Amino acid sequence: MWTDIPRPQRWQEPQKNNPLPCFMLVPLFTSEIIAERVAVLGKEITETYQSESVPLTVVSILTGSIFFAVDLVRQIRLHVKMDAILAQSYVHHASSGEVLIKNKLKESPAGANILLLDDIFDTGLTLKTIQSSLLEQGAASVKTCVLLDKELPPEKKMTHADWFAFRIPPKYVVGYGLDSDELYRNLPGIYELQDDDSGKPEDFVF
Ligand code: 5GP
Ligand code: MG
Repeated sequence: MWTDIPRPQRWQEPQKNNPLPCFMLVPLFTSEIIAERVAVLGKEITETYQSESVPLTVVSILTGSIFFAVDLVRQIRLHVKMDAILAQSYVHHASSGEVLIKNKLKESPAGANILLLDDIFDTGLTLKTIQSSLLEQGAASVKTCVLLDKELPPEKKMTHADWFAFRIPPKYVVGYGLDSDELYRNLPGIYELQDDDSGKPEDFVF
């Protein structure tokens, strides 16, 4: 059974011949707290767009923001179209410095009011690159909403997000869609991933 455990958990990567690396998952936000913030964001976004005559196009940046997107759109009391962009900028735990966009939207962005969603905003390279591309393709507006905004010195931020659920210190985080080498996305809460060299076996309980 799923549990949202309010204490550090030790997690061992499931590698048959190499038991390391071992991580500690330090809880930051439970699924209940995330749901509360998502409801507030949904209300604010509804108020922002309620006088618009065209449906809002919500574009989530895959893969990390899908959990956030499906929860958020159900808190937006407007007609919404959903689309997605597959983009990648992080390789292992560091930014590669470039954003690879791997697909086009189902409908042309021309004339659309777009709300671009991402899981986490670090330097802003991902959001800025995709926002610029959608505006170049003729979108009427592109606002941005992220689950997490990572604290960085202002000179390292390339843009800002119009909405964010939580601001976090510059740590590597996983859960609620966020991964480490594709693992941990399905954890219901958000955790900081800390190296753990204690060598103790896994005690994480799903
Ligand atoms: P940016 O382009 O803003 O520098 O980085 C944002 C992207 O990097 C996000 O879409 C996400 O894929 C990845 N990223 C940045 N920080 C983290 C983190 O702490 N955890 C995870 N899982 N991904 C991160
Ligand atoms: Mg991403």
